Parts: sequence; structure tokens; C-alpha cells
Amino acid sequence: MKRFNYLVIGGGSGGLASARRAAKHGAKVALVEGGRLGGTCVNVGCVPKKVMWNAASVADTLHHAGAYGFDVEQRGFDWAKIKEGRDAYIERLNGIYARNLDLDGIEVFRGFARFVDRTTVEVGDEKLTGDHILIATGGRPAIPDVPGAEEFGLTSDGFFELAEQPKHVAVVGAGYIAVELAGVFASLGSQVTLLIRKEQPIRTFDNILRTTLMESMLTHGISIETNTELASVERIDDCLCLTTMDGRKLDGFDELIWATGRRPNTDHLGLEETGIEVDSLGHILADEFQNTNVEGLYALGDVAGRWLLTPVAIAAGRRLSDRLFGGQPDAKLEYIDIPSVIFSHPPIGTVGMTEDMAIEEFGDAVKCYTSRFTNMFYALSEEKPPTVMKIVTVGAQEKVVGIHVIGLGADEIIQGFAVAVRMGATKADLDRTIAIHPTAGEELVTMT
Ligand code: FAD
Ligand code: NDP
Repeated sequence: MKRFNYLVIGGGSGGLASARRAAKHGAKVALVEGGRLGGTCVNVGCVPKKVMWNAASVADTLHHAGAYGFDVEQRGFDWAKIKEGRDAYIERLNGIYARNLDLDGIEVFRGFARFVDRTTVEVGDEKLTGDHILIATGGRPAIPDVPGAEEFGLTSDGFFELAEQPKHVAVVGAGYIAVELAGVFASLGSQVTLLIRKEQPIRTFDNILRTTLMESMLTHGISIETNTELASVERIDDCLCLTTMDGRKLDGFDELIWATGRRPNTDHLGLEETGIEVDSLGHILADEFQNTNVEGLYALGDVAGRWLLTPVAIAAGRRLSDRLFGGQPDAKLEYIDIPSVIFSHPPIGTVGMTEDMAIEEFGDAVKCYTSRFTNMFYALSEEKPPTVMKIVTVGAQEKVVGIHVIGLGADEIIQGFAVAVRMGATKADLDRTIAIHPTAGEELVTMT
């Protein structure tokens, strides 16, 4: 049995960050990883997704190049070439992670860990234990229980395996991944049908974001089948044929992508040997300090099911190590005012409360400022994609409790405004700030 101060299960965003911070504090650390170092974000998430989003953004820019006087013709898009470059980039990142762990003196065990009792973890033939054990095993895509779904459909993992660009693709789902992948495919020239169960995608986001995204996707040429759930998927000749719950047939697709949520990686971990409590979907229940109900066992990141975002997993992991090994007994991640970007087309940047959430909590004390305009980038183009912004304020002081932006540049605008919201800025603070002209972001400090 090998003993460590800190045993980390999972070498993704949260596990790596926590292990490295603990090692910097002088702890003897081991990390167990069953797949590729970097986890979901690096291998099948944020990173390859952003490469594809960048490619799609280049295509969008080319679309407007003529208005700026360029005589360019887009003759094609080499999907295989971008995949090759993307895969090589990720391999380099995998190598950098391995070297960093080595430099930090962290012992890495390759294989899937399984608890054999409350304090012992088995990896292949090795038995490991730690004074403190972190579970940061992330999650995986969920496929609904629909006949043919698994056999004929891909998930986001499969999207990154695609060797060729599909001509006509169906994307099922209504969250981040569905709208991001639909946008990438459409900008790169695939015909896209998005199938959603309700009236609009991204239902938990502010109403201006939902409505403008829906409008923009339709203008972008994406077909949206609302109130649609699938009953079965079949392959007939070379095409996928989808049957909906209300008996409609949708066919002619060469690929189907399921983007219907994710499930935590807890089912093969031997958690029953530990007594750790999980929720009905298998997420590990952890408190605000990432403690589970079992002393010495901790959970964070996607496996704990709160805010499935890389920076959240990283921040929680670092704070936990600061608390356990860095002499900071109160260190914890405050799960408030977490900014987020949806890399849709156009992108969305959002932080804090939606208008509906604010009204539910503060009623008449809520006042919102909204603006809709055309980004100057499109001034010379015939097409005028909208930018829409909303500031949600509360009370006589007009404390800013939410900022929501959809439009070109929203992805880069929101980070700085998230600082302002986190510091408790009021509308007057935004108004006092001098605008940067001509930008889209200046609208947030000039709205009346
Ligand atoms: P993971 O990164 O999933 O890491 C868990 C690791 O544990 C994996 O490497 C896995 O192999 C390993 N593991 C599992 N079980 C075991 C075991 N028993 N033993 C040993 N190892 C094990 N977030 C953003 O902030 N921005 C984005 O743009 C973004 N885009 C995304 C796009 C897609 C398509 C997806 C799927 C996700 C995206 N996310 C994004 C979410 C982000 O990837 C996750 O929130 C983040 O990776 C969670 O980190 P984690 O450490 O909790 O888990
Ligand atoms: P989400 O939870 O964001 O969205 C999935 C949605 O799909 C549900 O909200 C639901 O919407 C719909 N859905 C669920 N089941 C079905 C079904 N059986 N049939 C049809 N639709 C269904 O999950 P994702 O997989 O998109 O992403 C997982 C998480 O990863 C995100 O929540 C996010 O935290 C993270 N992520 C972050 C990104 C970023 O930061 N840019 C990018 C990608 C992922 P409804 O109820 O409206 O039908």
C-alpha cells in the first residue's frame, strides 16, 4: 500500500489544479487518471470546441469580407485538416500537463481507480491511500433511452472524432453543447436541424438571450423543430430517419448528435464501499467546502454537479488545497456571480441573475436596462446581426445583479463586467466609467 498526504482521483480541470496547488504547499501528492490528462475540457470539451468555434468565426468573417472590398471566394473547408491540427494541439497539451505534474513531484498512476474500502483505492495492481482523498472524476455525455439512439447517434465526444463534415446533421438538445455545435456546423456549411423539447433553447438563461439566439439561429439558416422529442432512430440506406413522439418522420440526415446533458462518473468507483452520499443522478453531494459526508473524502467539479464549468472546477480545487495544506482554514469557492460564455453564433456572455430570477427574489425593486443595436462590424454589410444587452439592477441604489449580452464580442466583453458585478457595482458606477469608442462594450456604460 502506498500512502500520500493527498490522493486525487481524476486528472481533469479540477483534479489537476487541486493536485498541483497541494504539491506547491508541500504535500506528498498522487494523481490517478484513467484516460487522457486534461480531462473533458482539454480532450473533448472547451479546447477542441473553441478551435472549431474559431474556425466557424473565420467562416462568418469571410462571409462579410466582400462588404469590406475583398474579392474572396470560399471554395471549401477542409474538415480533415482542422481535425489533424486540433488533435496535434491537444496532444501537445497532454504532454505539457504530464511534464508539469512531473516538475511538481506528483506521482501519476495511469488507470481507473476504484475504492475497495473507505480509505483505500485500487488502480490495477496498486493499492493507494491518502490522508485526504479527492474525487474529481467528471462526467460523460448522456444519451436518452430511445431505440436506435446509441447505435446511430453521436455525442459531443463523437463530434470530435468525426473525420468528415456531415452534409445534413440533426442536433438534439437545448443547452450549451447543442447550440454551440449547431452554430459551428452551420457556419462551416452543414445543413443543420436543431430538435428541442420545448419552445426555445437555453431555457434557464435571460429572456433576451433565449429570444435573440433563436432569432439569430433561424437567420443563420438553422432549422429548429420545437416541441419535438424523438421516439426512434433508424438507418435507411445511407440516411438517418428520425421518428418523433407525435409520429412525424424527419429524414435525410447523415449524422445525429445527442446534446442532452451529462451524467457523473460515479458508477464504477466503488462508492458503495465508502458510504458517500449521491443524488438521484449519481452526483456526489459535497458541501461548500467540497466535503462529502465521509471525513477525509472530498468531491468537486462535474462529479459534484454544480456549475459544470472548467474555471469552477479549477477554483474549487485550488481553494480546497489551500484549506487542507496551505494554512487557510476558511478557503472555499463562493458559488455566486459565476460568469459564463456560450460559444454560440453569435456568442453569449452572462453573469448574475436573469431578470426573471431577480423579480422572483426582489419583485418591484428590479429595474432593467436593455439595448439592441448593430455592431459596427456589420455597418457595410447587408445582413445586420443584432447585439442585445441587458443590465438587471435592484433597489434605489440600482445595484447591478446581472448582465447579459448576445452579439459579436460578447465572449470577450463579459469577463471585465463580471469583476464589476462581483465587487457590487451599481448602475451609477457603470455610468461613471468612461466609454471606449467605438466598441460594442461601451453600450454597457452608456445605457439609459
Ligand atoms: P473532467 O475534466 O471531466 O475530468 C475528470 C477526469 O477523471 C477525466 O480525465 C476522467 O478520465 C477521469 N476519471 C474518471 N473516472 C476515473 C476513475 N475512476 N479513475 C481515474 N480517473 C478517472 N467549460 C467551460 O468552462 N468552458 C467551455 O467552453 C466548455 N466547453 C465544453 C464543451 C463540451 C463539449 C463539454 C463536454 C464540456 C465543456 N465545458 C466547458 C465543461 C468542462 O469541460 C467541465 O466542466 C470540466 O472539464 C470539468 O472538470 P472536472 O475536473 O470536474 O472533470
Ligand atoms: P445542458 O444541461 O446545458 O443542456 C441539456 C439540455 O438538453 C437540457 O437542459 C434539456 O433542455 C435538453 N434535454 C435533456 N434531455 C433531453 C432529451 N431526452 N431530449 C431532448 N432534449 C433534452 O447540457 P449540455 O450537455 O449541453 O452541457 C453540459 C454542461 O457542460 C453545461 O451545462 C455546461 O455547464 C457545460 N458546458 C459549458 C460550455 C461553456 O462554458 N461554453 C460549453 C458546453 C458545455 P430542455 O429541458 O429545455 O429540453
